[in-house]
Amino acid sequence: MSALSTLQPISHPMFTRHKISVQVKRDDQIDKVISGNKWRKLKYNLLHAKAINAKGIITFGGSFSNHIHACALACKQQQLSAIGIIRGEEDNQDNYTLAWAKNWGMQLSFVDRKTYRLRNEKSYLQHLQQQYPDYLIVPEGGSNALALIGMAEVIDELNQQSEFDTLLSPVGSGGTLAGLISADKNQHKILGISVLKQDGYLVKQVNDLLPEHAKAHTNWQLMSQYHGGGYAKFSAQDAQRIRSFSAVVGIDFEPVYSGKMILALLDLMSTGYFPAHHRIVLLHTGGLQGLAGMFERGILNPNEWPSLPAPPVR
Ligand SMILES: *Cc1c(COP(=O)(O)O)cnc(C)c1O
Repeated sequence: MSALSTLQPISHPMFTRHKISVQVKRDDQIDKVISGNKWRKLKYNLLHAKAINAKGIITFGGSFSNHIHACALACKQQQLSAIGIIRGEEDNQDNYTLAWAKNWGMQLSFVDRKTYRLRNEKSYLQHLQQQYPDYLIVPEGGSNALALIGMAEVIDELNQQSEFDTLLSPVGSGGTLAGLISADKNQHKILGISVLKQDGYLVKQVNDLLPEHAKAHTNWQLMSQYHGGGYAKFSAQDAQRIRSFSAVVGIDFEPVYSGKMILALLDLMSTGYFPAHHRIVLLHTGGLQGLAGMFERGILNPNEWPSLPAPPVR
């Protein structure tokens, strides 16, 4: 499992006007199916599972989770079994994300919200481990110490590919951002764009994930004003702005993660946040499979968004 994703320069009239340069780190292209940052975060988890001779992986996610979708296929490719503990009702078990996960052999176990909330509790995890002694337990979103090692490789690659000033990334659980911070030698500014409505716990969560040597890094910031209403929430107008941006630059983004980073970029630029000649890199974390669930629920019109591989025959 190795990846060197492309760094692609993009142009947009606004970049010209503000005299800034923008490149996109195309982690969305690492694999046709496995979402970019989830691929990075799973890499060393799966290698570890193999190294300790685990039978497979147990992990957690919602019904539309990019992580569940990615983990199911990655495990299949690595000949590991996969168990997904899914928040919520079995009603969703035939949606696009879960239908694919099942198709790739993931065993789904649906738990109510109260049980799902225990997913990081020590006693719950010990019990789960006793139930499945041969499995490696990976947290929701894949965010653990091994995930950070995988994400760090983005910075190693970028250091070989280009000089730049600021790296932008969408932030959910914080594992992606923590991995980027951990590898950066304080030479770039790293801006995390929170996609959740949150009240400060995320900064602590990122700090808790950071390895000792990186806890003193001060070159990063979490921006919490671009969640657009909360996780997976967005206005029709914001969705339209993301589609227009995609059309101009020729790269697809979705409105849950990478699209919110785009809205943040446009807003920051228009307020003069980036000085002239600033060099920006956007981390495209992937996540396009998540569009399917929004088509299924009528939240987005499939004719206005990129098409996805057809669902498996159910
Ligand atoms: C999971 C995900 C993120 C957020 O990553 P975290 O490590 O949880 O912060 C960003 N973009 C996409 C496409 C994702 O699937």
